[in-house]
Amino acid sequence: MFDSLSDRLGGVFDRLKGRGALSESDVREAMREVRIALLEADVALPVVRRFIDSVTEKAIGADVLRSVTPGQQVVKIVNDELVAMLGGALAEDGGDDHGKGVEGLNLDAKPPVVIMMVGLQGSGKTTTTAKLAKFIREKHGKKAMMASLDVNRPAAQEQLAVLGEQVDTATLPIVAGQQPVDIARRAMESARLQNHDVLLLDTAGRLHVDEALMAEMKAVAGVSAPTEVLLVVDSLTGQDAVNVAKNFTEEVPLTGVILTRMDGDARGGAALSMRHVTGKPIKFAGTGEKLDALEAFDPVRVAGRILGMGDVVSLVEKAAATIKEEDAEAMAKRMAKGQFDLNDLRTQLQQMQNMGGLGMLAGMMPGMKKAKAALAASDTDDKMLVHMDAIIGSMTPKERANPALLNAKRKRRVAAGSGTHVSQINKVLKMHQEMGRAMKQIKKMGGLKGLGALFG
Ligand code: GDP
Repeated sequence: MFDSLSDRLGGVFDRLKGRGALSESDVREAMREVRIALLEADVALPVVRRFIDSVTEKAIGADVLRSVTPGQQVVKIVNDELVAMLGGALAEDGGDDHGKGVEGLNLDAKPPVVIMMVGLQGSGKTTTTAKLAKFIREKHGKKAMMASLDVNRPAAQEQLAVLGEQVDTATLPIVAGQQPVDIARRAMESARLQNHDVLLLDTAGRLHVDEALMAEMKAVAGVSAPTEVLLVVDSLTGQDAVNVAKNFTEEVPLTGVILTRMDGDARGGAALSMRHVTGKPIKFAGTGEKLDALEAFDPVRVAGRILGMGDVVSLVEKAAATIKEEDAEAMAKRMAKGQFDLNDLRTQLQQMQNMGGLGMLAGMMPGMKKAKAALAASDTDDKMLVHMDAIIGSMTPKERANPALLNAKRKRRVAAGSGTHVSQINKVLKMHQEMGRAMKQIKKMGGLKGLGALFG
């Protein structure tokens, strides 16, 4: 997520933090670089201006520059401003809102609560509707029904029916020839009769915002009185996504935005400008094609990712969901004793695969940006995980416990045994060393749990 912006900012702040004392001109110089980085990330100009002014004003405040760690303080100020720009700090009361739709879906009205999904064709609207139905059931414990009002695109209604089966959610039976407003009425009646808590209306898209589309949206909103009107936009389209949101806001009462394709190489412009330009909160982020790839949008976490501080909260949550507590404890004990060997690496690799692969994890770990770049440079992908597993499997127990034993001859044997090359064996050994180092770092910071508390 936002890799190039993250790299640019990382560079600026590494330089700032590297210095003991900071002058006003150091701060201004850094802010010039931040400004360029934001503009290159396609953030709207007024948003950039406001951001830079606000950060500069706070950072050159006497207390900051005279403090013992001015660089760190400036980074903290930038972090706080980023959070505000993305929508503001949430769950400050320490509540368990994380992962539930942090800006909160309003589902408390009299059932069936109607959620109207709007957006342009190809934005990911239909997929997101199904993702949301699943999310509502799993995170809110509510029963949802979906109905497609898209009578323009052939097979749109069938597409939703198929997705409905995949996420185990009822869809409104298709009646050929029925028009959107009538479908909406029928859907509400049906949801009421079948006691569904929530009704998701997947409206038609168009290639561009046009009058006919807006008229249809208004008519559907008129008959269904939606509690939530969620606009789905593609984050890869940057400022266009923000402009689409602005257009929709003027016509229909949007309650929030869902940014899709956040797993792609979005530069950040859409996410960082959306709140300021449209006044609407980003409620969710789509992070993949799979139907569970939907996350509640949490400005604190996203700011953390942008600043390369790692999304430790997500990482800890993912780990908790995948790794058995006993295993984690055993591993932690071995780590504490400095006994992280290749068996442990193997277990870790398997867990990594279960948790969504290397890239996903590296992007979330604090201080792992560089490791991620190294991985990318070395062509390490998830297929490599499988190779690594085979390589470690071809070693003797002694070699696994003490990798130093692996001389050239042994490496050749392992390569032959696993159907790989010696260079790949070396990569595994290097990775083992690097992981060992990263783990020591995490331990110094109080372990994963400690980190979670720190950021949570
Ligand atoms: P619609 O025309 O707006 O209804 O778009 P669809 O829901 O049919 O989605 C278009 C394509 O985008 C499909 O192939 C989806 O799998 C894909 N898609 C949707 N959301 C995401 C996302 O968050 N990440 C990725 N990588 N693909 C997505």
